[in-house]
Amino acid sequence: MTIDPVLVVHGGAWAIPDGMVEAHLNGVRSAVAAGWRVLGRGGLALDAVEEAVVALEEDDTFDAGRGSFLNRDGKVQLDALIMDGATLRAGGVGCVEHIANPVRAARKILSESPHVYFVGEGAERFAAEHGIPLCKNEDLIIPREVERLREFQAHAEEHRADLFAPTISHDTVGAVALDSDGNIAAATSTGGTLNKAPGRLGDSSLIGCGCFADNKTAAASTTGWGEPIMKLVLAKWAADRVASGNAPEWAAAEAIDYLKTRVNGHGGIILLDARGRFGIAHNTPRMAWGYKTNKEENWGIERKDL
Ligand code: ASP
Repeated sequence: MTIDPVLVVHGGAWAIPDGMVEAHLNGVRSAVAAGWRVLGRGGLALDAVEEAVVALEEDDTFDAGRGSFLNRDGKVQLDALIMDGATLRAGGVGCVEHIANPVRAARKILSESPHVYFVGEGAERFAAEHGIPLCKNEDLIIPREVERLREFQAHAEEHRADLFAPTISHDTVGAVALDSDGNIAAATSTGGTLNKAPGRLGDSSLIGCGCFADNKTAAASTTGWGEPIMKLVLAKWAADRVASGNAPEWAAAEAIDYLKTRVNGHGGIILLDARGRFGIAHNTPRMAWGYKTNKEENWGIERKDL
């Protein structure tokens, strides 16, 4: 039996400024198109989420790949994870500084390594050995972000509260997909939070936190303040709610409520099950999202009532 494919993407959940709304909408729309080029011709969910996330990494608008937020040292430091819901194979990279498309490196790990997760120099060495080009860190830095970091650090005192509850920088990207074979997959990629300490790893690339996929439960990608999301293992928490019979739409909203009530966190989630049901939820002022099925295509930036 052929299943109707579904693709859902996000481009971060935060107070996306009015001046960046159009760029975010264009970005998620292009990412949906990139993923659908795979899914629409019967390709794998795994390939579709990789291509959708590459499109978002290559768009300077988002906090992934080139154009990411800078860490305290003024460097781009990237994390990414991709996971296959059919086999539970996964590949992740953390704290890489010389890879423009970390989700490509993560995919190589999933496909070609007995390991699941590589960090820093070892991740870059693995990537280079598997045909992923390395770049200079400067190639990933854009003037907008140099200025954003300069402004943040110049007003460090005023931003003190943000260190523990940052609301200004959650532009992580992600995708979840269901293919015509009935398999689901998820991918998430990020530059992390603005002014983060070097070596700080967020939720995005950790299995079950910022990304998760299991055909028996659901595929999820989260964005938002990483530390609270990690503590709750939120992507897996949401997927487990789907496994116990709840609709992803409900479980996504519950996960964001739980994030708020349990640890005072904020963020967003996309959640999709192997029946093609999906949910999009966030408790931030905005979240950039987009989706496509055989019957419908939509994208937006405000709360989505499915
Ligand atoms: N969750 C990411 C992190 O904490 C940030 C984001 O979603 O933009 O690294």
